This record gives sequence, C-alpha cells and structure tokens, in this order.
Amino acid sequence: MASKIVANVLKSGRIAHAYLLRGPSASIKEALAFEFAAGLLCDHPAPDGSACGTCYSCKEVAKRAHPDLYVIQKEGSAIRIKRSHEVLREALSRPFHSRRKVFILQDAEEMTDEASNALLKLVEEPPSYVVFILTTGNASKIPETIISRCQVIPCRQLPAPHEDREALMERGKEAERLLREILESSPVEEAVKYAKTEPAERLNLVSLLETAVYQRIGRRVESGFDRDWSADEDTKGDYRALTALVRAKDRLSGNVNAFLTFSILFMELNRSFRLVDIKGKTT
Ligand SMILES: [Zn+2]
Repeated sequence: MASKIVANVLKSGRIAHAYLLRGPSASIKEALAFEFAAGLLCDHPAPDGSACGTCYSCKEVAKRAHPDLYVIQKEGSAIRIKRSHEVLREALSRPFHSRRKVFILQDAEEMTDEASNALLKLVEEPPSYVVFILTTGNASKIPETIISRCQVIPCRQLPAPHEDREALMERGKEAERLLREILESSPVEEAVKYAKTEPAERLNLVSLLETAVYQRIGRRVESGFDRDWSADEDTKGDYRALTALVRAKDRLSGNVNAFLTFSILFMELNRSFRLVDIKGKTT
C-alpha cells in the first residue's frame, strides 16, 4: 500500500516538499525511499510517473551516486548539526542534473535538536526544487513542528501468510464498523470507554482504525482517480486521519495518558472526516 501511495504521488505530479515514511521495517522504508527518489529524479519517467529504470538518473540513484540525491544517515548515535549545515547549503543551490534535489533523511528521530531546527527552517520555506524524504521507526521522537509539514506515508509490513483472505475481510468490516461508531459518538465518551481497556487492546483499536482509513484510500486507488489527487478533499481527510493515528500509536507506545490520547485522536478523526459522508462511503 505504501508503494501504491508513492506511485500515486508520482502519477499526480503534485509533489509535496516533505514526506515521512513511517514504519517498523528499515529495509522496507529504505527501498521505498529510493524508489520514490528514482521517480522524482528520473530523466524520462513513464506516463504514469514511475521511474524508467534505464536512464542516467535511475542508474545513478540505484548506485546511490546521483548528484542531486543526498542521503543523510546518523553518525554514531545521532544526526548532527554539521550534516544539517551541509544540507542547508546544498538545498539552497540549484540541482546539477535533474529538475529536483532529493534529500533522504534516514532515522529522522535521531536528529539532534540543532539538526531538527535547521531542518525545520528548510521545510518551512523550501526552495521549489527540494523534496525531503524522512524515514522513522519512532515518529513520537520527531518534533510535531516537523511532522506537521510532512505527508506521512505509513509503511506496513505485508500480512502474514496465515492470515487468509476471509479473516482479512472480516477484520476490514470490523474496522469500518468501529470507525463509524467512533464518528457517530462523542469523542470524550468514546475516549473514556477505550482508555479503560488493556494496553494491547488500545493499540489494536488504533490498528483497526488505520485499516479502515487504508481501505478508504485503497478503494480510491483502485477506482483510478486521475483527478487532482493531492487537492482532493477525501484524500486530505484520509491523510490527516492517518497522521493522527500514527501519532496516537506512538503516544500509546510511549505510555502517554490513554484518555488524553484517545480524546485528541477521536476529535482529530471527526475533524478529518467532517466534510465526508463516511456513513455512505463505508457501507
Ligand atoms: Zn529513469
């Protein structure tokens, strides 16, 4: 699904300045970050926006040697200011070869405060040709000021093979019922109810809600929406909801007060879907 989202971003041609790939698997996020970068830098992209795989840029991205691709990894235990100064300098000079400059910032949660302040300046007012792709396994450690400027792309692992199709469909239906129930009730009352459950059940609730939102996106991806995708109100709502769910999961894992976390989450879900007739669309 994450890969489909990236494909749709490339297809739409409407590229945001910062994306946050968030998920547990470093290899999945890394592969996706480079696939994304190839699509952004490709000299002759296919009509659907995907990388051709054969041009100079695609080959150089594969070798991780493209002159407009910068990969920033942690040194020792943290991403330090020296690198962020380099990033600042590089971001302010025009691309050498491609239309864009792409910065992949791996394990963004490892940024020092100074480094994230420097990055924040860039994502607040990025030069038009700059795209940041941040990856993280722990979004709760990234300042909200940065996350709020990123499009969050959750990178989930594929379901285990023993999860058969029927079980997945059942879970999908349960997820949609749950989302509807939460949107139809008072956020605070629902928060009281779910805050009383066991920690594992709380995380399961958030995962189910994520599933429900993914299904909404999936249906739209499959119906091949070619219109102005990133400006689409439904899509904006879905993204906003996913970002809220990602944050809630991190808060719950970090033992932040469950009632508070759920109150914020349910209010944010209500706001995300305010303009959408979710009852009609999820049945
Ligand atoms: Zn290419």
